[in-house]
Amino acid sequence: MKDYTKIADHYLKRLYPITRSITGDGNRKTLRILKEIVPIEIKEYPSGQRVYDWTIPKEWNVRDAWIKNSRGMKIIDFKNSNLHLVGYSIPVHKQLDLKTIKKHLHYLESLPNAIPYRTSYYKEDWGFCLTYDDYHKYFDGSDSFEVFIDSDLKDGSLTVGEFLIPGKSDQEYLISTYICHPSLANDNLSGLILTTFLAKELIKKDLNHSYRIIWVPETIGAISYCANNEIAMKKIQAGFVITCIAGPGPYGYKESFDPKHPINKIIEQVFDENNIDLLKYPFDPHGSDERQYSSQGFRINMASITKDKYYEYAYYHTSLDDLDFVKAEYINESLNIYFKVIDKLDKNLVFANRIQNCEVMLGKYGLYSETGGGQLPNGDTLTELDMILWLLFCCDGVVSLFEIAERLKTDLGILYGVASMLEKEGILERIHV
Ligand code: ZN
Repeated sequence: MKDYTKIADHYLKRLYPITRSITGDGNRKTLRILKEIVPIEIKEYPSGQRVYDWTIPKEWNVRDAWIKNSRGMKIIDFKNSNLHLVGYSIPVHKQLDLKTIKKHLHYLESLPNAIPYRTSYYKEDWGFCLTYDDYHKYFDGSDSFEVFIDSDLKDGSLTVGEFLIPGKSDQEYLISTYICHPSLANDNLSGLILTTFLAKELIKKDLNHSYRIIWVPETIGAISYCANNEIAMKKIQAGFVITCIAGPGPYGYKESFDPKHPINKIIEQVFDENNIDLLKYPFDPHGSDERQYSSQGFRINMASITKDKYYEYAYYHTSLDDLDFVKAEYINESLNIYFKVIDKLDKNLVFANRIQNCEVMLGKYGLYSETGGGQLPNGDTLTELDMILWLLFCCDGVVSLFEIAERLKTDLGILYGVASMLEKEGILERIHV
């Protein structure tokens, strides 16, 4: 796989300043930029559409927002950081005293130099976020404040990106990432850039499965996508929510809801093979868009590989999750890991032995030594012949290659190679499940 470090750095810098939210032009602009990498199809779902228990909200766009003190000095300016404004703030222009404005200010005493990230999607409200240091500096009892928010909330649409990669089978895996966070680098600029590079690499491969790759606003976007693509989504067995993948901290993975699903074991194997320590976060119903995809109606096994997982790092949802925190080289490193995981997952096929009554006459296919009497089982080392015999014994159209590899304690990739050879000989046939 090519090295994506340089190009990741380019897109981190270009996309970081854009004001993204659950709707709005920032999301369209982000997807249009990502379209330079792969031809993402941009889709719009209208405000007001009922999507299961939810309704797609009005579209939010913001041009400017600030607070001035009584001397006319801008003490908070959205143009310096889009995190200053609470996401989905309604338009406001008024003069307020300290007591009133305080109800609309958010800061973190525990991280006094960080601007927190806050939103108010479903309650019409407004607010500003600032560092605790600035709060002390600029907000004292004697002053009055002019508040200005030039935003609008109108009927519009919610924007998603979709890219489908067909493989030999129409059985799909889902790769989903979220695009609704403004200037936060690990959560989730890292994820949406990595996902796009992953799409670009997957197109080059001769894939067995098909891949449905989507860029959606978290929660409402994932719900809207499920509601608008219900038939396809209900056929998906597994996939990834790509998030928080390029911090300086440790790698981790959030297990899918079924701990026995191959996706979990394959992730652990890849980290093991690459000698990288891995924290394991067992499934729980909190988290990201697996909350929708793994819900009862869909039950898709979704895993996430993370490097500084959401909730777990000190700078989470603050302005310190920035381009100093995230590194392009970590995006490249994590991309390689995802690529290896998907490579294995893609090779996890189900085959059936076409000759079920008694043994296959391997000599006929040049797969057995013509000199009889010399074949002995070779202890612990699996020869190619051992693998052939095991595959013919196990491949019943139900058991997967992953399960056979586990039983034989051998590498799925090598077993896949042998199974593919038997498929070419017409002995095994692929079962599309
Ligand atoms: Zn987040």
